[in-house]
Amino acid sequence: MPIHLFDSLERKLKPLAPSRADGVFRFYNCGPTVYAPAHIGNFRTFVVNDVLRRLLELEFGADKVKHVRNLTDVDDRTIGQTQKEKRPLAEITKKWTDKFHADCDALNCLRPHAEPTATGYIKEQVNMIEVLMEKGNAYRAADGSVYFKIESFPGYGGLSRIKERELKITNTVADADHKDSVSDFALWKAYKPEEDGDVKWPGPRGASEGRPGWHIECSAMSKSLLGDTIDLHSGGVDLLFPHHENEIAQSECCNGTTFAHHWYHSEHLLVDGTTMSKSKGNYYTLTDLVEKGYSPMAVRYALLMGHPRKQLNFMLDSLHSAESALKTLKSFKDVLADPRNTVDGPEASSRFDRVFAALHDDMNTPAALGALFELRQEFLYPTATSAKPTKADVAALDRALWAFGLDVEGTVLFVPAAITALAAQRWAAKQAKDFATADALRKELTAAGWSMLDSKTDYKLEPLKK
Ligand code: AMP
Ligand code: ZN
Repeated sequence: MPIHLFDSLERKLKPLAPSRADGVFRFYNCGPTVYAPAHIGNFRTFVVNDVLRRLLELEFGADKVKHVRNLTDVDDRTIGQTQKEKRPLAEITKKWTDKFHADCDALNCLRPHAEPTATGYIKEQVNMIEVLMEKGNAYRAADGSVYFKIESFPGYGGLSRIKERELKITNTVADADHKDSVSDFALWKAYKPEEDGDVKWPGPRGASEGRPGWHIECSAMSKSLLGDTIDLHSGGVDLLFPHHENEIAQSECCNGTTFAHHWYHSEHLLVDGTTMSKSKGNYYTLTDLVEKGYSPMAVRYALLMGHPRKQLNFMLDSLHSAESALKTLKSFKDVLADPRNTVDGPEASSRFDRVFAALHDDMNTPAALGALFELRQEFLYPTATSAKPTKADVAALDRALWAFGLDVEGTVLFVPAAITALAAQRWAAKQAKDFATADALRKELTAAGWSMLDSKTDYKLEPLKK
């Protein structure tokens, strides 16, 4: 079965296929805004898109997929951060880009084939804005900014189904931004020294110097690297409106053709049943979780435990289940990979087809993981008539694990250095029969969220169930 994915524009499941004769599948995924560390909600979106990238490669061939994911390194939030920290924009965005890359690597996400930055594509954005102005889809406002005139694009609202009255299309409003209509959106923002510091570029013809609006960034980077029409555009559900609606308007008016054949939006992650926020104390970065003793692979697993198009309620407990699921999968792999357990058989295995059938059915990751555990049961606890595992089954399990991006070998717990040191001191105290000190150190470990399991010759650290 080809990969079927829900298309947010047509509101139905549609098969994915390259649209051009070269057979290359063109995939654009909106990337992070690099002004702070990405949180695990962001990583839900990126991990889901990584599984999608892997499925596309398995389906069309690794050399027939072109995956672009941008870095938003200039927008209101990045500029706001430079003002707050009084440091140059490039310094801040580099710091958070590096962190994002390190986190993506830890989560075993494949690097996109191209990772353009918005600041690296200013000329292309300016060109697009000039075309939109020439075609009458955009206008210069009194302050030198440029706005997209949504009235000029009859298809506006097609993706989000936003009603015309909600858009408040009116020519009578002259608001503080000097727009013709309140719903028009900025393509180019005129330089404001008090807000923008030294962040500015020469503007489109007739406009002031300034910086691009956020939406045009993705339209220009997608056009430059993938062409006027792409096969798939994706992002988190919050990007559907206005970001993607605006991207369609700009790209289709500028290029005069369909922008994307398929739109995919994954749902948000909640923590403890509610939206994440620092004030609620339920806001986690990957580092926060690693410091609590969880492995990035367990985080990846937990992010795939729910259907990507449904909200996922994340709890620290999910990571305990994820760690144990990974251990189970590792033992499944070890048993299957042991040559003493396999027999000769056909070159291809169809026994794992049910895993891929679930993944190809709107990327139903929980059903696909369920199928994997069912197979484990069937392989490890065979009935008298069950077929024995073959080498092709071993390869099929590897392929399935690769599709999920689950590196089951790397599921070792990360233990913070301070905890390792405490444990070593306690072990030394116990060996020296200084039980009072050993008990006091155990209390410290417990308070820090760790239990120490002693055997005769060694000990093991485990995070306490929270
Ligand atoms: P940002 O860095 O804010 O531009 O967001 C990067 C990606 O993360 C976008 O695709 C967002 O839609 C997505 N995103 C933001 N918050 C969440 C969340 N709580 N759960 C899942 N995805 C999110
Ligand atoms: Zn985007």
